[in-house]
Amino acid sequence: MNLTIAILIFIVGISIGSFLNAVIWRLHTKENFLKGRSYCPKCRAHIRARDLMPVMSFLLLRGKCRDCGKSISWQYPLIELVTAVAFVILYGVFGLTISFFVAAVYTGFLVIVFMFDLKHYLILDRVMLPAAIVAFFGSLLIGLSIWNILLGAVIGGGFFMLQFLLSGGKWIGGGDIRLGAVMGLMLGWQGVLVALFISYLVGSITGVILIFSGRKSWQSRLPFGVFLTLATFIALVWGDAIASWYSSILGYQ
Ligand SMILES: [Zn+2]
Repeated sequence: MNLTIAILIFIVGISIGSFLNAVIWRLHTKENFLKGRSYCPKCRAHIRARDLMPVMSFLLLRGKCRDCGKSISWQYPLIELVTAVAFVILYGVFGLTISFFVAAVYTGFLVIVFMFDLKHYLILDRVMLPAAIVAFFGSLLIGLSIWNILLGAVIGGGFFMLQFLLSGGKWIGGGDIRLGAVMGLMLGWQGVLVALFISYLVGSITGVILIFSGRKSWQSRLPFGVFLTLATFIALVWGDAIASWYSSILGYQ
């Protein structure tokens, strides 16, 4: 891992995180995210060019809009930093390879789904459809076989489809089914099993913590896409290691 390249990737990651913030905001307001300037969601004043520096501007403005003084969501610097750190992790694991670029694009989609589900409890088809197309071709590009990719999608989508049917649509929404299929396209069949296992582990631990800290009740809905995207990233990076560790526990080699 070359430190100069890692720093450059961090800076690029911060800028892409900034773009993802704009995408998340404009998906919510249904604006075109390739056109138009950024504005303050509270007072609608256009944001000056010098205040558009990712993370830095947030710190310099002490988290407040220059025009109306209302606080800017912590979401903005957080997404920028998370994207940057994720990109550096990917570089550390894959180096500057085609796998790195494909995984970085997948991460961009995962960040959008993560944040949008956390804020709005929604997984949008306008995100899942392009994600599915990109994941199919991206996984072909990094050498997954077409059968591996399609089997992954059937396992991921089918897993949630089954719960959807069993619960009459109460536990699971259509967005979860489509996200499950996209996870399979991104990870292949082994990777999607690893991701589903991790998401249930992380999801149930978080659920129990939230219930016992009094922030949620047993009846509360959890934005499950948050755990699924997090688990997909972990499986993307460490999936092979986790799968071989798990099969060594079971005694297979
Ligand atoms: Zn403002």
